[in-house]
This record gives sequence, C-alpha cells and structure tokens, in this order.
Amino acid sequence: SRKPIVIANWKLNGGFDLLCSSVASFVKKSFLAEVYICPPYLYIRDLLHFLQYSVVNIGSQNVSKYQSGAYTGETSAQMLAEAGCKLCLIGHSERRSMFRENNASCQIKLKRAFENNLMPVLCIGENLEEKNAGITKDILSRQINESFEALDIADNSFCIAYEPVWAIGTGQAATPETAQEVHAYIREQLVSLFGQDKAQQIRILYGGSVTKLNTTELLTQPDIDGLLVGGASLDAEHFMSICQQV
Ligand code: 13P
Repeated sequence: SRKPIVIANWKLNGGFDLLCSSVASFVKKSFLAEVYICPPYLYIRDLLHFLQYSVVNIGSQNVSKYQSGAYTGETSAQMLAEAGCKLCLIGHSERRSMFRENNASCQIKLKRAFENNLMPVLCIGENLEEKNAGITKDILSRQINESFEALDIADNSFCIAYEPVWAIGTGQAATPETAQEVHAYIREQLVSLFGQDKAQQIRILYGGSVTKLNTTELLTQPDIDGLLVGGASLDAEHFMSICQQV
C-alpha cells in the first residue's frame, strides 16, 4: 500500500506572514499523510528551522541540471539536500511553458535528484489544446518515457504528479473519475517501464485546483495517492484541512 502524500507548492508567493501562519498551524500536529511544503528557495532554511518540531518536510520547487560552476542564479541538488530538502519538484508546467524546460532537461534533473537523495516529483500533464485534440495519453506517455529513458532508477523512490495544465489555477479541477482514468493510464506506463512491483509502489499525485472541498473525493480513487496543492496551500489553515482529510 502506498502512503498518501500531500505537497504544498507556494510558487512565487509567500512571505514572512505565510511562514508564521504555517508554523502556527502545523507545529505539533500529526497526519496520516506525508506532508511537504515547497516554498521559494529563499525560505527553505527558515521554514525548516521553524518547522523542526513538526512532521512537515520541506521540498524545493525546482533544481538545477548543473552540479556547480558558472551558472548564475542556479541552485544545485546537492545544495538543496544539504540545506535539508527531502524532495524536489521537476518539470512543473510553469517551468515547461515559461522557462523552456522539456522532457530532456527533466531527465537530467531526475538524475541530479537521485544522485543526491532528493525524492523527485516529476510533473506531467496535457494542456487544453492537447486535451481537445484527444492526445492526452500520447502527451503523457511521451513525458514519462522521455524523462526516464536512459535513467537507471534501481532502488530510488520518486513520485509522478499529474497536473492537467487546464486545471492549474482555474478553479476547474479534473473530476475524480477523469483523474482516476488518467492515473490508471500513467500507472500502466510505469508498469511497462519498471515492472509491476515497482510501478505499484510509485505514488501518483493529482494537482490542479485542489481545495479542501474536492480532496476526499480525489483521494478515495484507487490510483490517486496524493495531492499537489497550489493556491489553496497559501492559506495555512486551508492547507491544514486538506492534510487532515487523509
Ligand atoms: P493550483 O492548486 O493553484 O491550481 O495549482 C496547482 C499547481 O500547479 C501545483 O503545483
């Protein structure tokens, strides 16, 4: 059985107020899910310090594909791991659409995460045009296959986050039935890549307009193992109530 996982992605939001309210909400609480917060890099250390008496873990929203050198503005997987991050998001749709990331760069980032014991969460999903063209499954299988192509994943653990681009920040979440159908398809792809046993252990998260109102119906689907929460995670109490529904 797969342990549920709930991840907050603050994106380029938050500040000291959000750090403080998160601490107030999360310290000394326990959850059945693994809970992570991915703040902007600048807050990683503060949040770790503030949440040291909580079960909440810290993740990063991105990671450099480079290890060190003259790459102004980059942050390496090793630095993130040393800072205390346990997880990193890779290939979020905003990085793909605005910062030229693609399946090939995701593959390098996955490798960097594995080398440094950061658990990668590979984000995939089709946009509205692709959905309307009926090519969702093609897009997803390409994203998965091209990202893992030459990688030896051995004993490494990782997650997949299915975030349909049309559901991100729109208030139009996928229905639980649609999300389940897609997640089952993603798991089939994982079975053909990694075999039945490994594929059954990989957690597949849903993201896109998740709120406390659709959490339970999403998480009760057999192949939805967790949630990646954007907007609703910017209110600590709201995010807390999502985590408590697991
Ligand atoms: P929203 O929850 O704001 O739709 O964002 C989802 C997301 O992109 C999380 O990574």
